Amino acid sequence: MGKRVLDLSRSDELKDGIHEACGVLGISNYQDDDLAHMMYFGLYALQHRGQESCGIAIYKDGEITGQKGIGLVPEVFTEKTLDRMDGTSAIGHTRYSTTGGSSIENSQPLIFNYKGGKIALAHNGNLVNATKIRYELENKGAIFQTATDSEVIANLISRYGLKCKDLKEVLIKTMDVIKGAYALVILTQKKLVGIRDPWGLRPLCIGKLGDSYVLASENCAFDAIGADFIRDVEPGEIIFIEDDNLISIKTNYNKAHKSCIFEHIYFARPDSVIDGASIYRSRLEAGKLLVKEYPVDADLVVGVPDSGITAAIGYSRESGIPYGEALIKNRYVGRTFIQPNQKLRERSVGIKLNALKEEIDGKRIIIIDDSLVRGTTSYKIVQMLKNAGAKEVHMRISSPPVLNPCYFGIDISSKEHLIAANYTIEEIRESINADSLAFLSVESLLKAPIGAPANCFCTGCFTGEYPMKVPMNSDNVFRGEQC
Ligand code: SF4
Repeated sequence: MGKRVLDLSRSDELKDGIHEACGVLGISNYQDDDLAHMMYFGLYALQHRGQESCGIAIYKDGEITGQKGIGLVPEVFTEKTLDRMDGTSAIGHTRYSTTGGSSIENSQPLIFNYKGGKIALAHNGNLVNATKIRYELENKGAIFQTATDSEVIANLISRYGLKCKDLKEVLIKTMDVIKGAYALVILTQKKLVGIRDPWGLRPLCIGKLGDSYVLASENCAFDAIGADFIRDVEPGEIIFIEDDNLISIKTNYNKAHKSCIFEHIYFARPDSVIDGASIYRSRLEAGKLLVKEYPVDADLVVGVPDSGITAAIGYSRESGIPYGEALIKNRYVGRTFIQPNQKLRERSVGIKLNALKEEIDGKRIIIIDDSLVRGTTSYKIVQMLKNAGAKEVHMRISSPPVLNPCYFGIDISSKEHLIAANYTIEEIRESINADSLAFLSVESLLKAPIGAPANCFCTGCFTGEYPMKVPMNSDNVFRGEQC
């Protein structure tokens, strides 16, 4: 084993360094008596976007009520809870916290009063100027109950509700002030509203379920409830749904389309289609492009479960090297996995993942993962393969090196924790003890989402080119926009 320039042996994460954002869902004008159950199924399908907390706000007879809690969808919503939730329209949320900690206060949907009545809001994304707006609002007497930037949006809606003639004007005025990433679903006593930020950073799409309209972060939620996909909400577009009418308002805020390329690499489910591009096909294509850029002679291609599997299949098809299932994931290890001390924590990757010796022994292995952020998991996986008898381990990553943090709702940690921002590729290779290491180029990555409009992606975490200005402190650390 070569000299390791980094100690990557200590990690308790299977997928280190990146975490999901949030999922949002809304169903309007639903005529059967099982709306809460439909929301439950839809949120279940969006569980991959956030596992910390979840909630549903439901409208019935002029009243909006909510139920939310810490935990996964089936932990928060029991049969009994769902039976008690009756209504005709609803919104829901699955949360991973990027601003505000993991607490019940910060869970969503938020329900609040404004001049036009009661309103519920669920948000996926991060505002880059939330700190500044919050500071200004607090100076004018506003009180905040949560630490989220979503409550900043709620507060603006409430404030503009006092001055503006209708909700449309309120929302346009709110969009005038907030900057950053947002896919919002809003429930009023009359309407379901969907809004996508001016760059379309976070996904939001429209579906139809009988006479009802559905809004969701990803269309995999439509499949779960039997709805048909209609189209994506466009960047800067506001969708108003009242009864069975849908009205689209194209605001002046529409910028060039810059949706998050990481949705295609890792976050979104492979059975979703975002802005015309199938996530599954994007990952398959990324694997094929990786062969063209970094071929290697080997006996078996293996994907890191689950994130690297599709790209590994693509790599195998393009290279002609057989694909094998050499790493077995324990599907029953959840968030509550007990790891009381460091020694036991170090065992955690081995419990979550195990190598299939029969497939690996004596072979030259190409192991594919979707991204490499801190490097700790990669080191353990390479070790696992070598311990199982691999003659050589060649690591291929189906995205470029992550060099910069994300400010738009994806929890990619600060630069100091990003291995590629601090070490050369050769140093990383040596640290993870692989025989070779290569990353897909940015140029190839942008070719992978087949069907998406050209130049329509944010690549900020790879290139440092963000679609909007991100406010930094003098130490080059993002703290939200300072006043
Ligand atoms: S910086 Fe990266 S993770 Fe964040 S929105 Fe852009 S592409 Fe996505």
